[in-house]
Amino acid sequence: ISNNLITLADGNQMPQQGFGVYKITDQDEFNQAVTAAWEQGYRLFDTAQMYENEQYLGKILHDLQVPREELFITTKISEANQGYDATIRSLKESLKKLQMDYVDLLLIHWPINTHFFDTWRAFEDLKAQGLTKSIGVSNYGMVHLQYLATQAREMPVLNQIEVSPYMSQKPLIHFHEENNIATQAWSPLGRGKVFNEPTLVKIAEQKHRSPAQIILRWHYQNGISFIPKSIHPDRIAQNAQIYDFELTTEEMHLMDAINKNHRVSKEPELVY
Ligand code: NAD
Repeated sequence: ISNNLITLADGNQMPQQGFGVYKITDQDEFNQAVTAAWEQGYRLFDTAQMYENEQYLGKILHDLQVPREELFITTKISEANQGYDATIRSLKESLKKLQMDYVDLLLIHWPINTHFFDTWRAFEDLKAQGLTKSIGVSNYGMVHLQYLATQAREMPVLNQIEVSPYMSQKPLIHFHEENNIATQAWSPLGRGKVFNEPTLVKIAEQKHRSPAQIILRWHYQNGISFIPKSIHPDRIAQNAQIYDFELTTEEMHLMDAINKNHRVSKEPELVY
């Protein structure tokens, strides 16, 4: 893996490539995956209250005797825990499960109309208290970010959104760039659904790489952060080995052209 860091608007630094742990709910599988990721050099781990595995992440990182300062840990407040008091209370619960004094990045998992500003106010206060180093959001669109800006004391430094070859998100990423908000791609591999796309297969064959590696390299060269998931040590290793080849400008354009504006998830609801 590369140790390339992205500097966030608040001055904190974050590894560009991270490891996502969504849907890994079996503890043995979880331990195997995170151990393999750690050995491959992953330092950013992305969990969420909704994933119900924060306690496994805390336990395995503790068992691996990983120095806290080497890690970059992200968690997300679930929809049910939004609101000022619930956000504060639930982050404290998450920290207990993680066996940590702070997270590096705290995200609002999903925009909802109720508590829209309350939850963010709690985020600003939690950052001031040092319980999280950075604060951001997930699944926000331009309209949510603009609405948040009408009352926020500080703006999110990052928006974690679905980005894959089928959902390339160019307009939103451009908006982020103009507003000093980092983009982080979730489901960066499009959950594997894009692997048989002819353009991708062709580039992969020419480069003697897997489709997954080509996609991750495309994210890397686009300059955004990305957090692929796998439970298989060989794939975890493969996904880390994308720093010894390069896509040409033409190959990058061909990858961009795969876009279908097709999401694997529901469209985030609008805030009124
Ligand atoms: P992903 O795009 O990372 O795809 C994961 C799947 O691709 C794996 O389950 C596996 O089947 C396959 N895969 C991975 N590496 C492979 C390889 N080298 N070869 C072949 N197949 C391979 O999808 P994801 O898990 O949905 O997303 C990654 C992370 O993003 C999650 O674990 C989670 O941390 C985060 N996420 C966040 C949100 C959000 O709302 N903020 C939503 C979804 C996911």
